[in-house]
Amino acid sequence: MPYQAGNRLPGERASKIAHFEVINSPLVKKLIKSFKNPEMPEECLGLAWEPLPVTGKPLKYIFGVDGSNQTINSDKSPYSSISFVKTALIKMDSYALGKLDKENPHPFVLKQILQESVVFHSTAFPLRNVWIPETPNNYHAIREIIFESIKDDSPQMEGEIMETFKWIVYEKWSKTKKQLPFFECPHCHETVATLLYDEEMGKCHSCGGDIYVTDMLGFHLDMGEDSAPQGISTTYMIIHETLLLFTAIRNFWENRRSNLSDCLFVKDGPLSIRAQYSKLVEPIRKFLANARDEGYPIHIIGQEKSGFFFDHFQFIGKDVPPKSIFVPHDEYIKKEIQQRPLSGAEYGKDTNYGAKVFIKTHMKFFE
Ligand SMILES: [Zn+2]
Repeated sequence: MPYQAGNRLPGERASKIAHFEVINSPLVKKLIKSFKNPEMPEECLGLAWEPLPVTGKPLKYIFGVDGSNQTINSDKSPYSSISFVKTALIKMDSYALGKLDKENPHPFVLKQILQESVVFHSTAFPLRNVWIPETPNNYHAIREIIFESIKDDSPQMEGEIMETFKWIVYEKWSKTKKQLPFFECPHCHETVATLLYDEEMGKCHSCGGDIYVTDMLGFHLDMGEDSAPQGISTTYMIIHETLLLFTAIRNFWENRRSNLSDCLFVKDGPLSIRAQYSKLVEPIRKFLANARDEGYPIHIIGQEKSGFFFDHFQFIGKDVPPKSIFVPHDEYIKKEIQQRPLSGAEYGKDTNYGAKVFIKTHMKFFE
């Protein structure tokens, strides 16, 4: 602890002398030098950056989704944990936003614009040492909470998210009436569970246990009997954000299809869903391809603000002129970004519903 400043002498600065010795050590010097060695591989020098196309017209309607989650731990025995999740869909009023000062938007005006165009959803998961009396254990309690939360029929949501969920998994936008692909039953753990077209609940044909449509996502595969990992609420948040965004898409598809291609749908984070939850990805891809083939291309982007791709962009984007675009192909991603063997599966084969694109709009970002 340094001495505080007195009347006659300034305060002591914390252990600066010790730091000085550390940075003068030959070993530390050598290490630091080796830490700062981002030599750009030759493959990254001649990348196929292209100028950002200037054709096309601005999209009229902009929708964005975002979410947050927070786990609260009690610091007294038996140390319980509850995780809270909040998600929101925002419709941007591009006319009202256009009138704002882009560098210094007035916070109250911005707040008012947002208040008029946001829908919120929130829920909570008992992760550890919290019980719901009517349910046999935490495992089944969380299954029920996921079902009830997706079904959220509050005045804000009115069951719209469940409708979107069914619209995706039963491919309700197509003409064929499909049942759910078989998935692992949360009771007998055999891969025999399914539900008939449009059903929200049913019974397992093998053990007779209750099945929710949301069980097909496989949250129960990540849970223990009495506790659930923090990842449950993070994954729920990502899935709920995706469903919120697709609720806006579904609404246009069903009611204003001719305006669908005038919209921009923006997700916070990549257009991907990990592990067993990626069962949503295949029907989403099918829908996007179908919409394009029917003449209603959907403009959807996921903006990444951290992670491997973001870090790589800092590296390769520095010397590129503004308004440039680069689409990395599979081989490049595996070799330069993931640094894994080229022989493995294609990047994002089962988990992504969008391609990666690097776009440099202006210089400021790199300053
Ligand atoms: Zn079963």
